[in-house]
Amino acid sequence: MRVIRYEEIVEKVATMCQEANFELGEDMMNAFHQALKTEKSETGKEIISQLIENAEIAAREYMPMCQDTGTAVFIVEIGQDCHIAGGSLTDAINEGVRKGYQDGYLRSSVVRDPIGRKNTGDNTPAIVHLEFTEGDRLKLKMTAKGGGAENMSGLKMLKPSDGVDGIKAYILDVVRAAGPNACPPLVVGVGIGGNFERCAYLAKKSLFRPVGKRHADPDIASLEIELMEEINKLGIGPQGMGGTTTALDVKIEVEACHIAALPVAVNLNCHANRHKEVVL
Ligand code: SF4
Repeated sequence: MRVIRYEEIVEKVATMCQEANFELGEDMMNAFHQALKTEKSETGKEIISQLIENAEIAAREYMPMCQDTGTAVFIVEIGQDCHIAGGSLTDAINEGVRKGYQDGYLRSSVVRDPIGRKNTGDNTPAIVHLEFTEGDRLKLKMTAKGGGAENMSGLKMLKPSDGVDGIKAYILDVVRAAGPNACPPLVVGVGIGGNFERCAYLAKKSLFRPVGKRHADPDIASLEIELMEEINKLGIGPQGMGGTTTALDVKIEVEACHIAALPVAVNLNCHANRHKEVVL
């Protein structure tokens, strides 16, 4: 049994929260530069240039790339031969988020309850999803998920007879309805299958895959490419000002489902597609 100290997790999480907000990943920067070459609208090109400049300033001056510093969402892969000493894993993650957001002067974007709307003041609690794996490693994957894009996401329980055409039509409907409100250019996360709650998780999980990395199954990879082409024909464009870059990528995760069901979830992410990963 391998032992990982509580304090080690706190420190790693605090660093991840700050780095996610200050340093946009190489995958996103590459996608911006690629989009700059392919975008047809002059306004769209100008906006993409500004997004590149914004990300460069944030990284250089250690400032958040957006005023919305997001909800801290974690997918944690915990090996069955790994033991956390000194406290619970969830407490360690929340303490790390508190430290990272407060020390980094990042906006607190979480309210204690959805009706009373009182801010918790430290961006906790984080949303933590656990996946159990073999081995003795602890992998922490974090995203600072923007509220605007999250608000425009959706889930629909399709009928199996709706088929692939129904899936595509629903995804396009969600992106069309989001228009400028999800802060495009987007990364579109899609979950297909599972059940009601699992499907939403799959859509979120898909967003942790680096932009530009296709699904391992060639049929799903083809669907990702086809959907991206269709989404980019919608004309929404960067920041909704028109253009051919509405999405930088489409990610799909699939899982088994009930014979009577075809759940589809679309979790939109904005141009501040911030994700970090560490292995302890
Ligand atoms: S949705 Fe994204 S880009 Fe828009 S305000 Fe929130 S974090 Fe910023």
